[in-house]
This record gives sequence, C-alpha cells and structure tokens, in this order.
Amino acid sequence: MNIVLLGPPGAGKGTQAELLQERYGLVQLSTGDMLRAAGASGTELGRQAKAVMDAGQLVSDEIMVGIISQRLDAPDCQAGFILDGFPRTVAQAEALDAMLTQKGLKLDCVVEMAVDEAILADRIAGRAADAGSQARSDPRSDDTIEVVTKRLEVYRAQTAPILPFYKERGLLKTVDGMATIDEVAKSIETVLEVA
Ligand code: ADP
Repeated sequence: MNIVLLGPPGAGKGTQAELLQERYGLVQLSTGDMLRAAGASGTELGRQAKAVMDAGQLVSDEIMVGIISQRLDAPDCQAGFILDGFPRTVAQAEALDAMLTQKGLKLDCVVEMAVDEAILADRIAGRAADAGSQARSDPRSDDTIEVVTKRLEVYRAQTAPILPFYKERGLLKTVDGMATIDEVAKSIETVLEVA
C-alpha cells in the first residue's frame, strides 16, 4: 500500500506516519526528516536546505523530486510507503504521478488531516517548548512563531491546491486531525481499509 499524508505543519503527519509504519510495515518517507539530516551533515546542499527551511520557505521542486525518486528505488519501499511532507506543490504532485507510472507503482490513498489552523500555532509552540524543557531533542529551528506563521501561509498558497488534484483522481480521503492521536489513527485505518 502506498499512501500520502497531507496536512498543514503541526497537523500530526509525522506521528501518524510512525503509527502506520508499525501497524502496516510501510516505510515512512519524511522529507522534513531527510532535509534536517542533510542539514546536520553539513554538506553544501544540506546547508542551503537548512537556510530555506529556517525561513519557512520550500526547497526547490527539482531537488525534492530528485530525492524522492531516488529514495523510492530502495528495496525497503517495495512493501509500501507513506509519504509525509511530499508532495508539497502541484508541480511535485505531477512529478510524483509521472515517476510512479514510470516505476510501475501507484498511490492507493491520499489522507488529508484536516485541522483548525487557529490551534496549530499553539500546538507547534508547545512542541518547541517540550523539546526545550525535556532536553530530549533540540527544538526545531523552524518552530518559532514567525516561521510557523510563514509555513502556514506557504501551506495555504502552495500545498492546499494539491487537494483538488487528488480529489479529481478519486484518491482523497479526509480525516479529522483534531481528535486524539488514537482516534485519528483509527479514522485513518478505516479509510485505508476501503482504499
Ligand atoms: P512541517 O510539516 O511541520 O511543516 P516538515 O518537517 O515536513 O515540517 O518540513 C520542514 C521544512 O522542510 C519545510 O518547511 C520546507 O522548508 C522543507 N520541506 C519538506 N518537505 C518539502 C518538500 N516536499 N518540498 C519543499 N520543501 C520541503
């Protein structure tokens, strides 16, 4: 089963992708995690990506499409994958369509996690505070209120237009992302069962 998780920053895509990975044995492909790893590695490309992320902007379609296309060829993706953070623009969605066809693959379902945007900024601010206070992980450098506001703007302008793209193709299923983690996981399982 090949799935895309869609939703604004802070919607809980990463949390649900991890649960799906455990539940169905799918591979989680988080472009945000991939880019943060590239940033931490200190390569020139990684440094450039980090600067773009820290401004709340999107890394270029060309780079992202290249990263995903290469990653999908790895043997662990054969059992199925969950895309978390990709596609993020209509151009990426079109490129994904073309690359899957070329690889003899297809998407089974696109799950939109619908959330109340007014509450998202609080959630993300909470995530930053938790990371800082528990010293478990460093707060993300793009989780400041200014950058989060920018990321939400970018989501509305560049990523939300993907929703009609998948709706037209009959792939889009929407779940309520404001419920508890367990309830959201249940709703996703339910939509996947009929996908
Ligand atoms: P969130 O979903 O909370 O916004 P992510 O961890 O998915 O965070 O992504 C963090 C940042 O990484 C984005 O704001 C963007 O700069 C960059 N990024 C991730 N995926 C993509 C993508 N598919 N295209 C362009 N930029 C991306």
